[in-house]
Amino acid sequence: MREDIKARWTARLRSGQDAQGTGYLKQEVASGRYDYCCLGVLCEIAVEDGIVRPSELRGMSGSIHTFTAVDDLTDNSDTILPLAVARWADISADGYQQPHDPEAVCPDRNGEEICVNELCGICRTLALTELNDGDNGSMPALPFPEIADVIEKWF
Ligand SMILES: [Zn+2]
Repeated sequence: MREDIKARWTARLRSGQDAQGTGYLKQEVASGRYDYCCLGVLCEIAVEDGIVRPSELRGMSGSIHTFTAVDDLTDNSDTILPLAVARWADISADGYQQPHDPEAVCPDRNGEEICVNELCGICRTLALTELNDGDNGSMPALPFPEIADVIEKWF
């Protein structure tokens, strides 16, 4: 992904500025208080850069916010990244990492097909949505600062 955006994103995830939630990019959990998926934090940075409009409530009484591209109202989402954000950041819309080097071989495999490290970007395709939300109980949700480490290393 784009290095300057990665630096801003990881810094904000480590800052403690945003509360972490699951399931949606941004959800209002109390008046004026929001929970974010790590991808929602990236959307807020995209708002700063004029890529998407400030988030809006989806329905009259809903608590779920939607991010919409400034130049295409049909490009909007409340779960994965709007395409405009994905293109701007050079990341896949669902937050799956692109392998840095497809030829790389993990040194920690010990003769197995994959190593035991759940966060190994050589042996596994890392999905930020799954890391943020937890993966059906087999893997707990990863806190924002640890997600920042994964983004820094593998995205
Ligand atoms: Zn590995």
